[in-house]
Amino acid sequence: MARSSRPHRLIVIAGTATEVGKTWVATRLVEGLRERNLTVSARKPAQSFDEDDALTDADHLASVSGEPVDDVCPRHRWYPMPMAPPMAADSLGREPIFLGELLAEVRDGWPGRAPDVGVVELAGGVRSPLGHDGDGIDLILGLAPDLVVLVADAGLGTIHSVRQSVADLAGYPTVVLLNRYDPVTELHRRNLAWLVERERLDPLVEIDSLIGSVLDLMPTYCTGCGRPAADCPGGCSPELDPPRHCPRCGRRLAVTIVPTGVQARCRDHGPIDDWS
Ligand SMILES: [Mg+2]
Ligand SMILES: [Zn+2]
Ligand SMILES: [Zn+2]
Repeated sequence: MARSSRPHRLIVIAGTATEVGKTWVATRLVEGLRERNLTVSARKPAQSFDEDDALTDADHLASVSGEPVDDVCPRHRWYPMPMAPPMAADSLGREPIFLGELLAEVRDGWPGRAPDVGVVELAGGVRSPLGHDGDGIDLILGLAPDLVVLVADAGLGTIHSVRQSVADLAGYPTVVLLNRYDPVTELHRRNLAWLVERERLDPLVEIDSLIGSVLDLMPTYCTGCGRPAADCPGGCSPELDPPRHCPRCGRRLAVTIVPTGVQARCRDHGPIDDWS
């Protein structure tokens, strides 16, 4: 089997329920991180769907991560039956689904060179069954992500489902995203204020804020010496020197002379002036 390297940061996209927009959030996140020159892999451990759907979640994720769709979700984890995956498996007469197998497939399926970020989209809500022996919370326990994004609806019923899911996720670094939030809608505004004031939560309402939260988790490296930023004693780079190391990975940059000056480029992260 080819070598698999765990992403430097692992993000799980979970939901308070199905149809809250997990896939939409996951694809916008993958796109946004790739636009900022990060390397990203997307995974869907198992998916069930309506046979009439033109595109599955894995198709959507693969179209933005640039990976083959069978890398995003292995073909034997596609269940063309709109039920929770273990029920769909039963209904289709397929093998039972065990969480340990899903976890092993994710763990062994990353690219050989660790991507900066791995984005794993779960199915259904956090307590929806993903296998015959476990649910979303159990999968999160096994994945040990750096961040769980709890995608919630912004409208009626969201206070209950957010409070319940946040309680279920206790102990995991979690950020709540109120998807489809419309500041013109009084209910949305009141739901947000309630979660902030009464529940001491800090829900996000925009994808750009989520991208910012993930960027805040990324390690940074000194562009002078290439050491992790926290380990650099300073003074390693004369003031007007071009960067010699990539701030995303610490790798030595290839520097070429161009008509406008010098251009420094990391083989994984592209030209350095593209960073924002
Ligand atoms: Mg989805
Ligand atoms: Zn340094
Ligand atoms: Zn780099």
